[in-house]
Amino acid sequence: MNWQELANQLRQKLDGQVLANAPMKHHTTWRVGGPADLLVIPQTVKDVHETLIFTKHHQLPMMAIGNGSNLLVLDGGIRGVVLKLGGGLKSQYLDGNFLIAEGGAMLPSLARMALNGSLSGLEFAVGIPATLGGAIVMNAGAFGQDIGSLVSQVEVIDFEGKQQILSRDELTFSYRKSSLQDKNIIILRATLQLKPGISEDIAASMEAKLSFRNNMQPLEYPTAGSVFRNPVGDYAGRLIEAAGLKGHSMGDAVISTKHANFIVNRGNATGREILTLIRTIQERVFEQEGVMLVPEVLIVGEER
Ligand SMILES: Cc1cc2nc3c(=O)[nH]c(=O)nc-3n(C[C@H](O)[C@H](O)[C@H](O)COP(=O)(O)OP(=O)(O)OC[C@H]3O[C@@H](n4cnc5c(N)ncnc54)[C@H](O)[C@@H]3O)c2cc1C
Repeated sequence: MNWQELANQLRQKLDGQVLANAPMKHHTTWRVGGPADLLVIPQTVKDVHETLIFTKHHQLPMMAIGNGSNLLVLDGGIRGVVLKLGGGLKSQYLDGNFLIAEGGAMLPSLARMALNGSLSGLEFAVGIPATLGGAIVMNAGAFGQDIGSLVSQVEVIDFEGKQQILSRDELTFSYRKSSLQDKNIIILRATLQLKPGISEDIAASMEAKLSFRNNMQPLEYPTAGSVFRNPVGDYAGRLIEAAGLKGHSMGDAVISTKHANFIVNRGNATGREILTLIRTIQERVFEQEGVMLVPEVLIVGEER
C-alpha cells in the first residue's frame, strides 16, 4: 500500500491534517509508539465522515484515539487509519447547567469552563490529560467520582458513517469501563449535566486535587497515568511496592519511585521495554502477593 499516495488523496477531501507513516510517539503521553500508516486529525464532523467513507472504500482497519493518554502503542506501530480526535473537534459551551463539548475537547479545559460558570461536578477531572471522548469511553475518574455519572447524552458516528444520539439510559458505566468500549463508534459530542456551585469552593477543590497529583504522581515524566486497575479492596501501587519493584527499570522505562503504579519514560523508552516491565510486574506481584494485576492502559499496535 502506498500510504503517501493515500494520504494525498484523503488530504484533498479534508480541512484537517493527514499524515502518512506518522510516529505515534508524538501522539501518546508516554511518548512511545511506532508509526500509524495514516494518521488523521479531523477539524470538523464532515472530516470524520469523509475519513470513514475513505477507510471503508479502501477496506482499511480503523482506530479512534483521543489524547493517547491511556495507550501503549507498540514499536511496530498501528496498521490502517488512526483518527485522532484530540487536537481538532474541541468546541465547548455551557447551556444552563449543561456543558456541551466535542469529543476532542480536553477535560482540564472543560473543568475550567465549568468553574467559570460556577458549575460543580468536574473538579475531579482538572488534572486528567484526556479528551472528553476518551474519558467517556474509559469512564475516567478520580477522587471517588467519574465522568460517566455526569453524562446526559452522547452523539456518536459508527464506522459505517451513521450518526446517532445515545441517551443516558442507553449507556452503562462502571470502574474504568463503559458500554461504548470496542463498539466501532466515534464519540463526536457529549452533554454533561453539572450542578450549580460556589466558584470559590470549586476553585479550592480543583487546586487541592492538582496539588495532590503533583505530590503523589511523577508528572515531570511522560506516563500514561496508572498502568494497572486497582483490584477490589486494594491498590495496584501498594502491591507493586510490596513486591519490591519500585525503581525497577528496563532501558529507559522505570517503575516510578514516587508512585509504583506509574511507569515513567526517562527519555527514549520503547514499547517493548514498557511491555516487559508490565509483564514483570504481573509475574512478581502474582508470585509474591497472589494477585494478577490487570492493565488499565490499552496495549495497541504491533511489536517490531
Ligand atoms: C498524568 C496522567 C494522569 C491520569 N490520571 C487519570 C485519572 O485520574 N483517572 C483516570 O481514569 N485516568 C487517568 N489517566 C488515564 C487517561 O487520561 C484516561 O484513561 C483517559 O480516559 C484517556 O483519554 P484519551 O483521550 O487520552 O484517550 P486515548 O488514550 O487516546 O484512548 C483511550 C480509549 O478511548 C478510545 N477513544 C478515545 N477517543 C475516542 C472517541 N472520541 N470516540 C471513541 N473512542 C475513543 C480509544 O479508541 C481507546 O480505546 C491519566 C493519564 C495520565 C497521562
